[in-house]
Amino acid sequence: MPKDESQQNLSEEELKEAVIAEEQEREYQSDSFKKIESQVKDWLAKQATDDVLRDISVGAMFIWSSDVHYECFEEYVVVRFRIDGVLVDIFRLTHAQYKKIVERLKYSSNLKLNISNIPQDGKYSLKIEENKKIDVRVSTLPIKYWENIVCRILDSSKAAIDFEDLWFFWTSKRMLNKAVNKKSWLILVTGPTGSGKTTTLYTMLNRLNTRDKKIITLEDPIEYELEWIVQGEIDEKNGFTFHTGLKACLRQDPDVIMVWEIRDLDTLQTATAASLTGHLVLSTLHTKSAADTLDRIINMGLAPYILASALDTIIAQRLVRRICPDCKKIKEKTPQDVAIIESMMKETGMSVLPTEHMKLYEGSGCPECNNSGFKWRIGIYEIITLTEKIRDIIRKWGSVEQVIHEARNGDLIMMKEDGILKALKGYTTIGEILRVV
Ligand SMILES: [Zn+2]
Repeated sequence: MPKDESQQNLSEEELKEAVIAEEQEREYQSDSFKKIESQVKDWLAKQATDDVLRDISVGAMFIWSSDVHYECFEEYVVVRFRIDGVLVDIFRLTHAQYKKIVERLKYSSNLKLNISNIPQDGKYSLKIEENKKIDVRVSTLPIKYWENIVCRILDSSKAAIDFEDLWFFWTSKRMLNKAVNKKSWLILVTGPTGSGKTTTLYTMLNRLNTRDKKIITLEDPIEYELEWIVQGEIDEKNGFTFHTGLKACLRQDPDVIMVWEIRDLDTLQTATAASLTGHLVLSTLHTKSAADTLDRIINMGLAPYILASALDTIIAQRLVRRICPDCKKIKEKTPQDVAIIESMMKETGMSVLPTEHMKLYEGSGCPECNNSGFKWRIGIYEIITLTEKIRDIIRKWGSVEQVIHEARNGDLIMMKEDGILKALKGYTTIGEILRVV
């Protein structure tokens, strides 16, 4: 049977799995990986461990990675980078080579050198150019074969971005601009770890950051230092929790408060009370969608009438890989692509558009994207702004479906829908949307 006919008989779930599998088969390969490996091994041979740490971090940043992972096996250690959210093997080290790196990393980040049987975490700064410093957060984990280390690279220059850089469509950008310009209310950014919540929150803070306002943040940990903003770091062991921190913030006469995460009802109640007493409160929740967020808040025990009066906007989001602009080409649509687009349109309630003139795109792979066809990531979003009608529905709390139905009558675009529109514009692929949402 020809390939296309067999695919037409697959169920929707199987079609999705096939597309995701195809997407995951793409392999990152690059001369940059070999270059980093040879530099690092040269420095190791010369015992120049300072240069090793610098070259690994700079090399990782050069190929836009966020984390460096050292993973120990019986015979060797693998160095992996997280590139656009995907872990990629870069090169291997011997145990003897890794030992030198472990010692240097622990020394630099003030960890105990002689301890490898309990987890430790620390941080160090690295000067990479005359006027540029980056912070690296180091965490160790004892495992069967010795000790794994993960280093997160925090590049402050990335924090100062604008709404224009977040890939919002026009209506979404208008909704957000309106939300941050209000004096009070609660704005929630939601999504799993690694969905770009920090970037969105920092972008909003950046927009609000003028000298006539007092902005206080409670973070765990502080990822980027922001000029003029008062940043507090949570220390639960010593009683500095989100809840106690938030109460203390309110006594500091703030205009805007960013509490990194709402984990319990106490924090939620204090955050909503702060919004009701004239403060703009920004926070995050670990929920999948805008609808899921409303359900979670009600289940946490907040009274619907308080939620209706305190909450202004929910932004649910994910990051998808962007098609590499250097090797982007039109993709020939397969019957499975068409079937997936049609099923996603139906599922999100989009009007099903004729698919024959729709264009899809893909990256064919080039040195600029380490042959993966993708370079950098973009956000896909679902944004609900509470209108008076929606507040009424929440006050009477029927069901979350009623809220979504009413929001759909207004500006709400579902996350998958935002994704499909971005795929049709050639920013990403349908496979990425399926992989991430
Ligand atoms: Zn490319």
